[in-house]
Amino acid sequence: MKELIGLSKEELSAELTALGEKSFRTKQLWHWLYHKGETDFDKMTSLSKEFRARLKACYTVTHPSIVTEQTSQDGTRKWLVSFADGKQVECVYIPEADRGAVCISTQVGCAQGCRFCHTGTQKMMRNLTAGEIVGQFMTARDSYGEWPTPTDETRYLSNIVVMGMGEPLYNFDNLKTALKILMDGDGIGISKRKITVSTAGMADRIPELADLGVKLAVSLHAPNDTLRSQIMPINRKYPLEKLMAACRAYQERSERRQFITMEYVMLKGVNDTPEHARQLMSLVNGLEVKFNLIPFHYWDGAPFQPSDADTIRRFAKMLEDKWFAAPIRRSRGEDIMAACGQLKSLKGTDTFKVE
Ligand code: SAH
Ligand code: SF4
Repeated sequence: MKELIGLSKEELSAELTALGEKSFRTKQLWHWLYHKGETDFDKMTSLSKEFRARLKACYTVTHPSIVTEQTSQDGTRKWLVSFADGKQVECVYIPEADRGAVCISTQVGCAQGCRFCHTGTQKMMRNLTAGEIVGQFMTARDSYGEWPTPTDETRYLSNIVVMGMGEPLYNFDNLKTALKILMDGDGIGISKRKITVSTAGMADRIPELADLGVKLAVSLHAPNDTLRSQIMPINRKYPLEKLMAACRAYQERSERRQFITMEYVMLKGVNDTPEHARQLMSLVNGLEVKFNLIPFHYWDGAPFQPSDADTIRRFAKMLEDKWFAAPIRRSRGEDIMAACGQLKSLKGTDTFKVE
């Protein structure tokens, strides 16, 4: 049995052609899968009985199943979801007043091992398939009952941030297929302007994000190579010069010189001095950027402490004095370990010890 969720429109069409169906059937079936969110072939009533029977014999339609669901005092909701092979990831919904972003994962665990990140202490188990990436958003919609797809203005689950577990650009093909499905106007229809992909700095793939039209966030976290390589091993392979060149290429290739969000987690005594702020500003010289200062979210055994609130404010002010946008990110869902860098899905025995 083959899973239908996650097939691109072309792949779905090829499957149906092989079954001897006409091409308009692809559109009908797509509508059931991604506009209505239907998982039961018997309820796809606009399809003939024979067609449904044939689909049932060959295919499955699965949304990842919810293992646990927790809702924070601030409304943030986190799900631990499970896939066909029993592997699990976390995804999160972060509500604003009348809209909100679903934060999705791209890998089970993460191979990058950034020292401030809880996910990075887990073994990298495997890449998620395109269907598993799309499926997380569909499960979130199931949880809020947001089917059939509402109009852009009325939907509560309005944005997607690829900022969950894993490094998305090391699972690029599946990510690309998933994003195309999520953006498709005949189904889920999240516009490219409402999707942000965050990377730890896999420079080779960054410019290609401009072709997809999605926004880019870079987990920068350090303004020089020595420090960055210490806290983010990926910097040894893609040092700052390469990373900044990739960011320039992204900006040149994107329509309207899309700005880049530079994420910067504030680690006490490590990357939060005025000298770091100065280095940071000269590093991004020539790029259209917005900073996002993230208070470090502590987890058990983490080798860092969060910077003091005053230090963060002073750091922000230095950037703002030079006309950079530098909002301090309000932490969401910390009471349920749903905040940035806190996601994990394995029990203690499977995690690495942080030295
Ligand atoms: N792998 C991608 C996508 C994950 S995004 C990336 O690294 O960009 C998760 C975001 O949370 C990243 O900006 C990451 O650097 C940040 N983060 C990780 N651990 C954190 C922590 N303990 N506190 C605050 N932010 C953290
Ligand atoms: Fe992986 Fe991103 Fe965490 Fe680094 S910050 S370990 S790349 S998930």
